[in-house]
Amino acid sequence: MDSICIKARAKINLSLDVLGKREDGYHDVRMIMQSIGLHDKVFLEAIDERCIKVTCDKHWVPTDCDNIAYKAAAVLMDKFDIPKGISIRIVKKIPVAAGLAGGSADAAAVLKGMNDIFSLNLKEDDLMQLGKSIGADIPFCIKGGTMLAEGIGEVLTEIEPLRNVNIVLVKPRISVSTAWVYKNLEIGKISSRPDTELLINLIEKKDIQNLGKNMVNVLEAVTINRHRVISEIKEKLVSLGALGSMMSGSGPTVFGVFGNRVTAEKACKNINRDNTWECILTETFCEER
Ligand code: ATP
Repeated sequence: MDSICIKARAKINLSLDVLGKREDGYHDVRMIMQSIGLHDKVFLEAIDERCIKVTCDKHWVPTDCDNIAYKAAAVLMDKFDIPKGISIRIVKKIPVAAGLAGGSADAAAVLKGMNDIFSLNLKEDDLMQLGKSIGADIPFCIKGGTMLAEGIGEVLTEIEPLRNVNIVLVKPRISVSTAWVYKNLEIGKISSRPDTELLINLIEKKDIQNLGKNMVNVLEAVTINRHRVISEIKEKLVSLGALGSMMSGSGPTVFGVFGNRVTAEKACKNINRDNTWECILTETFCEER
């Protein structure tokens, strides 16, 4: 096999707690991560010239060594002395710098795809270990599904898969830097934290109604403090029938959990009509294992 196309799925956080800051500058987190249907397509092809070529249909995504998918390819090429090169073509559907781990998803796809194309015979755990050295969200993107993520996000525990829950993503036209959000988070002053055990329990019971009501992301207050629009979107989603709404990751994307598809579709149409925010209808996704 010389070429492959992989779906690189986005994620949302159903909860996000920050436990403390570590000596190395990273934060210890505890969060429930969930893959969603929305995905980039990553086309990989072995080439004779020993180099890494990246192209993307969105001109604002870097295609040089700043692209995280490039970095993932470089790690494998160096570590395994691969005698060939790789062409990486990304068809981008996941909004960029949005709190949806789009870059990490592309990098995870490159690690999985190159493992197959070059018959490296690496196990999922090996790929996750390599991924962690490139980015904290990459191990989750390799595994996917519904996971409790601890450590810096790389210690993953499977929880009951949450499939086919309607999700409406809304991204305001602003950029938020993850580094800025963590820098401005005052851990001692966090007023509301998620009850992670309760949320895991609700997921196991498929109690979407209470899941929607109990989602908490401790980074939300930091981002809202600077960008009131996050609150506005949350309120709008609830007024349009969401069972709950929350910011994903460090934002700025906000998602709404909907109990039924028709209401979710109507909400999405309503928001897109204004053309102020980007709105995408998707659903939670877990592969059959
Ligand atoms: P996370 O949720 O993991 O914090 P994110 O969704 O907020 O990630 P990304 O979409 O991964 O953010 O983009 C973050 C930055 O990385 C952007 O500024 C972008 O220029 C750069 N970047 C590098 N490679 C990629 C890629 N393959 N896709 C998207 N952005 C990339």
